[in-house]
Amino acid sequence: MEQVKCLIIGSGPAGYTAAIYAARAGLKPVLYTGPQPGGQLMITNDVENYPGYPDGRMGPEMMDDFKRQAERFETDVRAEKIVKVEFSGPMHKAWSESGHEIHAPAVIIATGASAKWLGIPGEDRLQNAGVSACAVCDGFFYRKQEVAIVGAGDTAAEESTYLAKICSKVHLLVRRDEMRASKIMQERVLNMPNLVVHWNTEAEEILGENVVEGVRVVNNKTGEKTVLPVTGFFVAIGHKPNTDIFKGWLTLDDSGYIVTNPGRTTTNVPGVFASGDAQDKIYRQAVTAAGTGCMAALDAERYLVECGY
Ligand code: NDP
Repeated sequence: MEQVKCLIIGSGPAGYTAAIYAARAGLKPVLYTGPQPGGQLMITNDVENYPGYPDGRMGPEMMDDFKRQAERFETDVRAEKIVKVEFSGPMHKAWSESGHEIHAPAVIIATGASAKWLGIPGEDRLQNAGVSACAVCDGFFYRKQEVAIVGAGDTAAEESTYLAKICSKVHLLVRRDEMRASKIMQERVLNMPNLVVHWNTEAEEILGENVVEGVRVVNNKTGEKTVLPVTGFFVAIGHKPNTDIFKGWLTLDDSGYIVTNPGRTTTNVPGVFASGDAQDKIYRQAVTAAGTGCMAALDAERYLVECGY
């Protein structure tokens, strides 16, 4: 068993930013990277919307920058996954995959979320070659081109209108005859002249050898199949926060996101702070995740001082 002051679980922009702040505050943080070190940016190409990188940066390179900055201030980065926690007393406990037990009075959660995928042929193979789960991140690469996007919630509504402003034509594929998105967002979708909503329509296969060259769709009412000549294919059917191990300890909302107190990173458990996409279903940007990682470290630092550490 090992005892540390500050344990950080997760290694995306939120986790590493929390580490940079916690380390500079002398908390000697230990950070467990989780199964995808670097988080969702590791499966992104160019990141062009992160301030301070005027020429953009490849997602994996950017996360390596984050990691090196955290390590420069002596964050102990461990390439392992935390598989179990116990938040039952003032000393929080966690166990890694290899069975190592670690105790900390302050825990910062930055486990992120994972995009949901359709699981259709071509989707895996053409990721980063025309298939994306983030229109705000990747839409720019398809400017003046024809693209398709799947989904019918607020994210799909927001991302399809975003795409319609930069792409020549957008096909929104909705599997039912109505959208789940809020009324006002639906109105925006229907008012975009270059955005076509295909009701009762599902994507069957993404076509193309090395890059996306089209998508075969089927109308689930008539059975009619069509190929849309798109070069970009976006999936916006929701995200799943990586919060399963916190069930029963932390208050989660209906979708599994950690509930934090408004404007703070504090949770229902004193000494446990949540940052990044694990607690944010609205913004989900690298820069907002980094911002909440910073907040979590500042909250943790104050908490430790109050507790006399
Ligand atoms: P949601 O879970 O709200 O919606 C997911 C959508 O994807 C549903 O319409 C669903 O269809 C569709 N879908 C799921 N699986 C498939 C599939 N296999 N094939 C085709 N379609 C599928 O997720 P969102 O990411 O849109 O939103 C998450 C939360 O974040 C919501 O609470 C939302 O309100 C909020 N949000 C708010 C924003 C804002 O206020 N600006 C912006 C973005 C999100 P079906 O309806 O048929 O089930």
